[in-house]
Amino acid sequence: MTTIINKISLQKRDKAVNWHPYTQMKTANNTIPIVKGKGIYLYDEEGNKYMDVVSSWWVTLHGHAHPYIAQRVFEQLNTLEQVIFAGFTHEPAVELSERLLKLLPSDQEKVFYSDNGSTAVEVALKMCIQYAHNQGKKKTKILAFKNAYHGDTFGAMSVSGKSYWTQPFESMLFEVIFIDTPNPENLKQLQAQITALADEVACFIYEPLVQGAAGMLMYRAEDLNSLMKICREQGILMIQDEVFTGFGRTGKFFAANHLTEQPDIMCFSKGLTGGTMPMGITTCSNGIYSAFLSDDHHKTLFHGHSFTANPLACAAALASMELLLQKDTQMNINRITQQNSVFVKTLSGHPQVENARHIGTILAFDFKTVQGTSYFNEIGKKLYNEFLQRGIIMRPLGNVLYLVPPYCISAEELDFVYQNIIEVLDQFK
Ligand SMILES: *Cc1c(COP(=O)(O)O)cnc(C)c1O
Repeated sequence: MTTIINKISLQKRDKAVNWHPYTQMKTANNTIPIVKGKGIYLYDEEGNKYMDVVSSWWVTLHGHAHPYIAQRVFEQLNTLEQVIFAGFTHEPAVELSERLLKLLPSDQEKVFYSDNGSTAVEVALKMCIQYAHNQGKKKTKILAFKNAYHGDTFGAMSVSGKSYWTQPFESMLFEVIFIDTPNPENLKQLQAQITALADEVACFIYEPLVQGAAGMLMYRAEDLNSLMKICREQGILMIQDEVFTGFGRTGKFFAANHLTEQPDIMCFSKGLTGGTMPMGITTCSNGIYSAFLSDDHHKTLFHGHSFTANPLACAAALASMELLLQKDTQMNINRITQQNSVFVKTLSGHPQVENARHIGTILAFDFKTVQGTSYFNEIGKKLYNEFLQRGIIMRPLGNVLYLVPPYCISAEELDFVYQNIIEVLDQFK
């Protein structure tokens, strides 16, 4: 009884004071107060458990409240919780940079810390624009993909595809040239388009292989390689936004591991700390870094955040990386990938399903509706509630349903989710 009262009171208190992200507060469901997380489960006050197969907005890699990460953060908290990163350094930041760079394509040689995926993108864009500026070149245009999503700050919004999300700010966003994602049919035309623009373009920013927020749209590594090759030849810097795809999501450590071409700059966040602490990283090549080395102060990268390279977040990232590299975790990622590849075939035969697809631990499909594919498709909310009642947290992007589970999900648990998907789909047959 008391727990129910607590729940209602927490919902009420929440509604009185909190404004939630990406939420129309007028029509939103009541928020669900969560009191505990363990592994792939979140628990509410009444002891109901929910399978978090969206990894709490794509961040949780090893499950909730992982004891090893908790322990490492606790130790760090008792040693050094924060230090200004201008003029000072610390072991966790140095070690994290060393370890991360070892896992990245060989060109990546320097690490710049910030707070989240959007800021990692802002830093990357500023690096590219100032790279040209520092060399006295006027290259200020940026290339990006239609349907891209790179974050919600102004620079990140500018390079994200035009949508309802960015519409109120349209007049204040800087100039970006949007191109289609590549496929064997349009590749030649895209290459010509890029070549024609090369003189003015500072950089090309892209989500490699999967456009997450746009609805888990996937495209081929060989086609991206071809575009990257042209950019390289034309002197256009490449920003590979691995905020979502990094740290095992695509079945390999990074999307970069599916590619033969190398970017100049890379962005990371989301899974970076295993989903425990906010942190963003922008890495770059020595070529970029060198363009900022000068006796002229004007050539400095004037960017930083209060919590740049926060030791606690670094400790969490190091612990998460250790877990990621363990054989068991790698076996889990391979197993999830394998299970997904089988389930995609099952889904493809279902009359309610279109375009079933997967890469590594990411699985997605379009729910067939008369309204067509859109973020505001009403069916999304219905499906969200239906899965929630079954104790599964799925957060459809409109009529696109997807799974992005923590890697600790067992074969049985994943099968249970698959089975529920089929049951829900069958209701609409
Ligand atoms: C989520 C996301 C971002 C933004 O990250 P935040 O931490 O939410 O600011 C940037 N790029 C990609 C590809 C993302 O998926």
